[in-house]
Amino acid sequence: MVGSRARIRRGEKFAMLTNCRRGAFSVLSILALSSVLNAQPASEQAAASADKLSVHWEELTASDFREGIRRSQGTCLLPFGILEKHGPHLPLGTDLLDVRYAALHAAEEEYAVVFPEYYFGQIAEARHEPGTMSYSRNLQLALLQETTDEMARNGCKKVLIVNGHGGNEHLLPYFAQSQLDKPHDYVVYVFDERTPQHGGPAKKTTIDMHAGESETSKMMISRPDLVHPDRATNESGADQARQKLPEDVYTGIWWYTRFPFHYSGDGSAATKELGEYQMKWWIDSVVTAIRAVKADDVSLKLQNEFYEKSTHPLDTQP
Ligand SMILES: [Zn+2]
Repeated sequence: MVGSRARIRRGEKFAMLTNCRRGAFSVLSILALSSVLNAQPASEQAAASADKLSVHWEELTASDFREGIRRSQGTCLLPFGILEKHGPHLPLGTDLLDVRYAALHAAEEEYAVVFPEYYFGQIAEARHEPGTMSYSRNLQLALLQETTDEMARNGCKKVLIVNGHGGNEHLLPYFAQSQLDKPHDYVVYVFDERTPQHGGPAKKTTIDMHAGESETSKMMISRPDLVHPDRATNESGADQARQKLPEDVYTGIWWYTRFPFHYSGDGSAATKELGEYQMKWWIDSVVTAIRAVKADDVSLKLQNEFYEKSTHPLDTQP
C-alpha cells in the first residue's frame, strides 16, 4: 500500500512539473517585467538584505560590515572572557563561553557588531593552575587599547566591553579611565554584571563566587555538553578564610588565601532552571545596556570638550 501511494505521488509531481514547464515562458516574462517595474536603488536593496546581517564581526563580508556599522549606529560589543580553571567540573573557557552566549543573544535582539573571541585579561591569581593564560599587565592594556582603537577606526565609535570575568573588575574601569589621558574619537563603555542580586529560583548556597551554583547553572544553558556535575564535589570550594585583615585592606593574594583551588562555592547545587533565569537576566541586561549606549549623545561630546580644556588647564573657569 505504501509503495503504490508513493508511486501516485511521484506521478502527480511529474504532471505538476510538466505543467510548470509549459507555463515557464510566461512566468519568466512576468518576473522580468515586475523586476523592471520594482527596480530598487542599490541602497534600498542593501537595506533589505540587512535583515539577515550576522552579529558576528568575523562572519560579515567587508560590504556587509559597513552595513552592520550603519545598522548598529556604530555600537560594537567586546565580550571579554579568560582562560582559567573553573573548579573541577567546568571548562577553562567558561567565562568566555558564557559572556559570548549572553552578548550574541543580546545583539540579535538589539543589533550590534560583536568582536571575536577575546580573553587577554587579568588572571595572575590562577597562574598556579593548569591551562591559565596570564598575559603581562603591559600587554593586557596595550592589546586592549589597540583593539578598541582598531574597532573605532572601523566605525565602532561606541565600544561596549561586556565583561565575563570577575578578575577584570579593576582592569576595565582603569582602562576606561585611562581613555582620558589623550584624545580618542570614541567612547569606551563597560558593562560588568553577570548575576542578578535577587529573584528567580531560590539558591541553595551562600558562597557562590567562582564555578559555584550560579556559574555552573549558566553553563548548563550556554554549553551543557561541557559541564561535569559528577565532578563538582571532587574538590572543596569552601572559603578557607586564612587571611586576618580588615575588609577594607586589599592585597593581591586575597583570592588565594580564601579559595586556593580556584573554586568558590558548590557547583553540584546548580540547576538548569537557575541557569535559564540568570542567563535571561544577563541577556536582557546587555540589551538594556546596548540601547542606553546607542541613545547616549552626551559622553563623546563632553569627552571632546574635556580633551580640549585639558590642553590649557589654566584657562579653565569654574
Ligand atoms: Zn568564571
